[in-house]
Amino acid sequence: MTERAGLAPALFFLADGGMSLSDIRDRLEAACARHGRDPSGVTLIAVSKVQPLDRVEAVLAEGHRIFGENRVQEAQGKWPALREEFDGVELHLIGPLQTNKARAAMELFDAIHTVDRPKLAQTIARLAEEMGRCADIFVQVNTGGEDQKAGCHIDEADALVALCRNLKLPPRGLMCIPPVDDAPAPHFAALAKIAERNGLTGLSMGMSGDFEEAIAHGATHVRVGSAIFGDRVPG
Ligand SMILES: *Cc1c(COP(=O)(O)O)cnc(C)c1O
Repeated sequence: MTERAGLAPALFFLADGGMSLSDIRDRLEAACARHGRDPSGVTLIAVSKVQPLDRVEAVLAEGHRIFGENRVQEAQGKWPALREEFDGVELHLIGPLQTNKARAAMELFDAIHTVDRPKLAQTIARLAEEMGRCADIFVQVNTGGEDQKAGCHIDEADALVALCRNLKLPPRGLMCIPPVDDAPAPHFAALAKIAERNGLTGLSMGMSGDFEEAIAHGATHVRVGSAIFGDRVPG
């Protein structure tokens, strides 16, 4: 692919076999129609991590405003300038959060999908009180019980939701990332079940390869990266 100025690289890339934002929106709406859901109940988070700036700007220029990033530092380097250029940007943190980066995250993000342990919940609650505002909170559940993956254990989810509520940090919902080698549906169903018994309506689940299935299981926030922007350039 040759580099060109302005929007051209993204358009060239799309012609190159990738999906576009409008294709993904069409698929999202079709999935909602199949499952009797109102598309306004499903937020499309465009996951822009590691993407070249011209691709991100092209999606902003198409009118999309809701983006996801998985690293605080990367987002800090990119989004303050983009926010000056484009109004109404809403940023979601979807990657693991270290306690010592919680303040920076709270300053930058409108939603944090990765609250997965009491200490982080306590830190965010303290910052929220101090700052007089709080991001939307999702409790991340490690539905696959994978050692290397973030998220609270499935058996700890109820207690962590209760703790957040006690800290006046009522979660908007739950989030999961199914193991790459598993069929995602049972993980989506498990997350929906935990949400239901805790009276939570938000479900952050579904990525490029499985967002339609997530919608079938009640996803309210789908996190779609490569299907919108193209493959992430490794390294
Ligand atoms: C990168 C990432 C996504 C998007 O993945 P794609 O497969 O590119 O859609 C979604 N959720 C999380 C937590 C991610 O880190």
